[in-house]
Amino acid sequence: MNVLSSRELRQKFLDFFASKGHTIIPSAPLVPQNDPSVLFTTAGMHPLVPYLLGENHPGGKRVADVQKCVRTTDIDGVGDHRHLTFFEMLGNWSFGDYFKAEAIAWSFEFLTGPDYLGIDPKNLYVSVFAGDHDVARDDDAIAAWQKAFSGHPKQPIAAQFSLDVHEVAENDASGKNKIFPYGRAKNWWQAGETGPAGPDTEMFVDTEGGLPAEMRVKHARSGMKEACHINCDCGRFVEIWNDVFMQYNGLGGGKYEPLKQKNVDTGMGFERVLTFLHGAATVFDTELFKGAYAILLDQVSELSGEQEIKARIILDHTRTATFMVADGVVPSNKERGYILRRILRRAIIHGKLLGLAPGWLEKMVENYINFYKEAYPELEQNRRNILNVILEEENKFGKTLEAGLKEFRKYETVSGKDAFNLFQSFGIPWEITAELAKQAGKQIDKGEFEAEFKKHQELSRAAGAEKGVFKGGLADHEPKTVRMHTATHLMQAALRQVLGSHVIQKGSNVNAERTRFDFPNPEKVTPEQLKQVEDLVNSWIFQDLTVKKETMTRDEAFKLGALGQFGEKYGDTVSIYTIMDPSGKVYSREFCGGPHVEHTGAIGKFRVLKEEAVSAGTRRIKATIEP
Ligand code: ATP
Ligand code: MG
Repeated sequence: MNVLSSRELRQKFLDFFASKGHTIIPSAPLVPQNDPSVLFTTAGMHPLVPYLLGENHPGGKRVADVQKCVRTTDIDGVGDHRHLTFFEMLGNWSFGDYFKAEAIAWSFEFLTGPDYLGIDPKNLYVSVFAGDHDVARDDDAIAAWQKAFSGHPKQPIAAQFSLDVHEVAENDASGKNKIFPYGRAKNWWQAGETGPAGPDTEMFVDTEGGLPAEMRVKHARSGMKEACHINCDCGRFVEIWNDVFMQYNGLGGGKYEPLKQKNVDTGMGFERVLTFLHGAATVFDTELFKGAYAILLDQVSELSGEQEIKARIILDHTRTATFMVADGVVPSNKERGYILRRILRRAIIHGKLLGLAPGWLEKMVENYINFYKEAYPELEQNRRNILNVILEEENKFGKTLEAGLKEFRKYETVSGKDAFNLFQSFGIPWEITAELAKQAGKQIDKGEFEAEFKKHQELSRAAGAEKGVFKGGLADHEPKTVRMHTATHLMQAALRQVLGSHVIQKGSNVNAERTRFDFPNPEKVTPEQLKQVEDLVNSWIFQDLTVKKETMTRDEAFKLGALGQFGEKYGDTVSIYTIMDPSGKVYSREFCGGPHVEHTGAIGKFRVLKEEAVSAGTRRIKATIEP
């Protein structure tokens, strides 16, 4: 097998898809340009949403790229063999051009071709959508995979199974099956309650090669009771690539019609592929982290057990912070800035726990800038700023951390209140306090800490309500704009009631004077319909409905039916605003960054100003609130 460098891997991928007629496009920034509902770009498809929805891409119908991604939802996975908070995703797209047969054939060719990755098909497995009562099994994908694998010993499809059935793993031990159907939880992609949807197919590598019959025994040893299967979390099979086929238009209630523009959206994990190609045990054992490890090993003679996990957290978080700052994020107490702050502080604390001498962070950041500057010139261009921003935060936090540690040493046992105090006054998160307590052999109670945390949250929520906006929202937003914003959510809900659930925000612009809202509708909205919308919104304002903000994973939000311009399969933390009455009946639920009023009664009177066409099939409404 070829052993590719990271540079060569990016280039090979782009060259391969260029040779298949794709336009190579640059990585978009980590901070999404037009989507306030998501803090960071979480997948290659994210910046391409408008084109997947039908806009013309200047590069044509086939594009490919290497996209920088951040997934904060994976932060607890950092330390394992395959999860990082920052990673690169290699992707190719078809905007209504080629479909499954080509996409799968090319995925296979790139992975196994001797001129490309040269992975032995023996170590390659795939999952496909198994079908259910609403949608048929993805036989097209199965046929394409069978064709791809056909040069190899016959590969029958494994029996259809859901995640918790394990006979397949036993079949699997015979070494014959390559294609494993899974249900919706694993192999179905859907943007929202309605709209684009479709099956996907995922590719896995077997990091142990071959399939020994004693697999069950092996798992018993690793503490897992179940037999292994390709989606198992034990670490043997690693998902490296996902091809999503946007094929259906969801009409709601489990009904689907074929989508007019069928798309392909793929995402391959750069670090994971490199890990496999290098025969490395974890993503951290690739050349990507070599320089960074060297900096740690200069100071710590050996990294074993828990120290190794700390080291991985440091390596991951400092890399993520470097890329975030390069894209303009600065540490703060809200949104992106808050995430950057948490990530940086976590790295700094772990550095402290490892006993790293001052100066390590600067070396680490320099190392990443140097290593990545060729692929990502923005690192070199912003070198000074990146270092300034990160070192200033280190400096600021260093002082509080020292004070916090001093405070900690005073405690005999650590009560929940103490732990909360360390968090609140010194920025030391629970996990770190728990770790310090463990090292010092002190007692600590998580339940107590959580109770304290909750109490505090309720207090700050009450304080936020007094000001009319949520704490954590954009405090500098003008109150009237905030009211207008909430009115816009109500308007979208009313339009969906009056015109139908095809109405979904395509664009919106809110200021203190008016709200402007674009949405798909085949014809002009009649004056009667506009009056109905106006009346509905005003009745909801009159009812003084509650507006509630929650943060959750994208998957959870999707399950609740939250509306967004476009969701995606890939998880990240999103915020959701729900407008409901005291009985819990939901009137509106949207992905949104906020801020909003707490009660609709604060909005005032809602009035439609104008309705017009923006383009064929797209209407625009301008509306305002009084006074
Ligand atoms: P997993 O279940 O292993 O977390 P996923 O289903 O979240 O993977 P996708 O959302 O399909 O992954 O993302 C596409 C590809 O990006 C994956 O096939 C994987 O190779 C890579 N990837 C996803 N999350 C991460 C991560 N946190 N770190 C590194 N690579 C990742
Ligand atoms: Mg994941």
